[in-house]
Amino acid sequence: MAYLPAGMPTPQPTRDDAPFWDACKRGALTIRHCDACGRFSHPPMPACPHCASTQLGWQEVSGNGTVYTYTVSHHPTHSALKGHGAYNVAVVLLDDADDVRLVTNIVDVAPQDLRIGLPVRVVWETVDDGCVVPRFRRRDDVPSAQPRGVQS
Ligand SMILES: [Zn+2]
Repeated sequence: MAYLPAGMPTPQPTRDDAPFWDACKRGALTIRHCDACGRFSHPPMPACPHCASTQLGWQEVSGNGTVYTYTVSHHPTHSALKGHGAYNVAVVLLDDADDVRLVTNIVDVAPQDLRIGLPVRVVWETVDDGCVVPRFRRRDDVPSAQPRGVQS
């Protein structure tokens, strides 16, 4: 079952991000990687945001990450969400792609169980128009990370 109901807007790939969406259809999370400075960036752009090089490629990453931040919406922000109930929007910090963060949803978790630092792994969901989007599910095989800036 899809995390969000049918009728939600779907990604409209552009020249810059079409390879990202094509890789999603293959179940691969690929991130823009700069051949000049060796850093990752997202969202995909025509030039590296770190060094302005246009020598850019794509690199597949593990799909593991942690919840950097999130919010739970109780109000329908789109007509397709009327009657749907609460849903989350999260930012996931990828484990192996510099400081790349993806805006996504965390599936199969109750709103009260979401927290910053929650370890997650990518899962794939086919939505309207056959588009495949990366969402994330909690990982129970690794301990939660301490949120950045929080002292224990
Ligand atoms: Zn660069």
